[in-house]
Amino acid sequence: MNGLSRPPLSPNESDIPLDTQTSMTFTDSPEPDDCIVLGAGMAGLSAADALRRSGYRVRVLEARDRFGGRLEPGTIAGHPIDLGGMWVSPVQTAVQELIDRFGIRVYEMNLQGRLVGRVGDRRFQVPEEAWDKGLPMLSRLRLGLAASRIRRLMDDIDPERPWASPRAEEYDRETVASWMNRNIRDRTVREVVDFTVKSVFCAESNELSLLFWLFYLKALGGLEVATQGGPGGAQNQLCVGGLHQLATGLAEPLGEALHLSEPAVSVTQTDSGVTVRTAGATYRAKRVICAVPPTLLEHIDFLPKLPTPRQQLLQRQVMGSCIKIWVAWERPFWRNQGYNGMIADAQADFSPVFDAGPPDSDIGLLAGFIEGRAADTWSDQSEEARRDMVLKTLESALGPEARHPIDYVERDWTGERWSRGCYGAFLPPGALTRFGHAIRQPFGRIHWAGTETASVWSGYVEGAIRSGRRAAEEAASQMS
Ligand SMILES: Cc1cc2nc3c(=O)[nH]c(=O)nc-3n(C[C@H](O)[C@H](O)[C@H](O)COP(=O)(O)OP(=O)(O)OC[C@H]3O[C@@H](n4cnc5c(N)ncnc54)[C@H](O)[C@@H]3O)c2cc1C
Repeated sequence: MNGLSRPPLSPNESDIPLDTQTSMTFTDSPEPDDCIVLGAGMAGLSAADALRRSGYRVRVLEARDRFGGRLEPGTIAGHPIDLGGMWVSPVQTAVQELIDRFGIRVYEMNLQGRLVGRVGDRRFQVPEEAWDKGLPMLSRLRLGLAASRIRRLMDDIDPERPWASPRAEEYDRETVASWMNRNIRDRTVREVVDFTVKSVFCAESNELSLLFWLFYLKALGGLEVATQGGPGGAQNQLCVGGLHQLATGLAEPLGEALHLSEPAVSVTQTDSGVTVRTAGATYRAKRVICAVPPTLLEHIDFLPKLPTPRQQLLQRQVMGSCIKIWVAWERPFWRNQGYNGMIADAQADFSPVFDAGPPDSDIGLLAGFIEGRAADTWSDQSEEARRDMVLKTLESALGPEARHPIDYVERDWTGERWSRGCYGAFLPPGALTRFGHAIRQPFGRIHWAGTETASVWSGYVEGAIRSGRRAAEEAASQMS
């Protein structure tokens, strides 16, 4: 079952029922590895890469029949696309280092022209960098005040230890929505913040702890960075050929050491080492790096059991609901009409939408999202019904040509067995102050990676890479 050359599996073959594991015959690995990494997303692959390059013997066990996790390649009208994460920013140093290492070309997302927006019943068309000009003057001023207030709250937050920030208890008592209800009286401004929260977490503002939100914004450099597409913004650059190539670059040198379709089902540690079991094999190592999303960790049996704060934390780390949708046309027809292809409609189920067309082709590509509550509803509808809703939204924003695409592709991340949602996990009130200290704390021979454990760019690929490297350093420093 080893290696990248393994033939592709049928879509459900990786869905090995966890309750059949005890009846399987186990194959013992010949000699213990230095480290076993669980999960071949960007965090696990980065950890394995760092250890391998330092000369350690490393093995990666991945549940899916592919590597990359929340980075996944796809195609639309014959063009490579990202079904998962796709944007990078010039300020993301770890990402940029890998882009250079693998010789990947990046380009800036098209922002030339007007975005189409709606807040409340007000529709507007404005340049992306001045999108707030679409709001009534008074609301614009109040939005500016709210943004400086949020910046002041963030000032106090230590992204390494947000739970220990001076007013952590106070901020962790409430949700973003309850804070807004008390501090932002303008409904338009509240709707803008709601839309921002939904676009960043695929969740609603009444689900998120205020403290967690402040931590997350601080960890990436502020509200503007999270929401903008210009230089320095999180949605600035795209990769020619797709961001998923970062995962390929890290996975290929692993060769036979990368095991696909082998979900870890138990991790047992003793004073002398760790044993990891999958449905058909047993592996031994000095250390384990767990780079599995928190929601999925619940499905692995840890012996001895995980410390209570970590278990409790895992139960509170919630994935957002999201369906990512790509639509293709022969040409980016909206550009000729002065639009940049961006739709920021706080009332629509399919929004935000972005022009993700490649620089080396005339094809028109829009990528957009159904997020939060809307995704809960649309997830259970037929693809035909979703497609119809998506095309209606595009038509009403960009005109009748939108009705005639040449291709349509979607990925419902909430339904993905080995992700259970995206983009990253968020925390409800009370969790960060009570259990946050456990987030990176090694448990004996087990170290924790994954974007959710990052203190810089948590939730993003940058955070995933950094978390993997940090866990690799931890494991290497105690390799015995
Ligand atoms: C639709 C979408 C859009 C996004 N957009 C962006 C973006 O534009 N820019 C950005 O920076 N980030 C974006 N993100 C977030 C980014 O993709 C993630 O932060 C990052 O990829 C997470 O990497 P990870 O390694 O921490 O976790 P994952 O990628 O989730 O990797 C974890 C791996 O563990 C595996 N696994 C699960 N259970 C087991 C088990 N029992 N045993 C072994 N393996 C197991 C999973 O199959 C998976 O491969 C987006 C994500 C999605 C889904």
